Amino acid sequence: MEITLEDVSSGLEKEIKISRRENCEVCNGSGAEPGTQPKQCPQCKGTGQIQHVRSTGFARFVQITTCNACRGKGRIVETECQSCRGSGLVHKTRKINVKIPKGIENGSRLRLSRQGEAGKQGGPSGDLYVVIYVKQHKIFQRSDNNILCEIPIGFTQATLGTEINVPTLNGKIKLRIPKGTQTHTIFRLKGKGLPRLHGYGRGNELIKVIVRTPKKLTSKQKQLITELAKELGETVLEKKGFWK
Ligand SMILES: [Zn+2]
Ligand SMILES: [Zn+2]
Repeated sequence: MEITLEDVSSGLEKEIKISRRENCEVCNGSGAEPGTQPKQCPQCKGTGQIQHVRSTGFARFVQITTCNACRGKGRIVETECQSCRGSGLVHKTRKINVKIPKGIENGSRLRLSRQGEAGKQGGPSGDLYVVIYVKQHKIFQRSDNNILCEIPIGFTQATLGTEINVPTLNGKIKLRIPKGTQTHTIFRLKGKGLPRLHGYGRGNELIKVIVRTPKKLTSKQKQLITELAKELGETVLEKKGFWK
């Protein structure tokens, strides 16, 4: 089952459809028409196995094979159940409610007891395993219970400080970027990560700001930045004849 990171955050209950074999209700899984009984296999006397004994001198070899008359079942159905044609099993499509706990890890297996395939000869059903895959999120990466993302900001914003809207798993919130912020600085939003599986509290959201350098400038912008460079005493490339 594929789920989203938002589902990991909130927990989820979802109905899935599965196709499985169940014991035939008409014959209770025996394969014999109601009112009749399967009889013991005469070839193997109900054991389902045949012993072949071979003696060579001192040694005696016993080889055991599956009985071919009853195919190892030990019983033979003489009057087959009409409903399942003697197999004792019927295919059913079932809707099953799967409860996914908060904070579940990618690749986890959930076990649903007795929701699997029918047991042999009317026996109890096996279990159903649901493997959980957490889809890659568009914005966030997961690291245990923390979520990480990168947010670009302009170099003037990083220099002078600003307030930006940042995404969380429940909508956007405001984040203050102080003046003089360097690129790759990580801001921590406490408790905005994922819940701990079967535990209390949540991890954090970590936001890495990436300071963008402008690539295309109008002549006015270029003039302003060149002036700023001079003011800061930084050496920059200048087009010959453009600015003197
Ligand atoms: Zn049946
Ligand atoms: Zn047999």
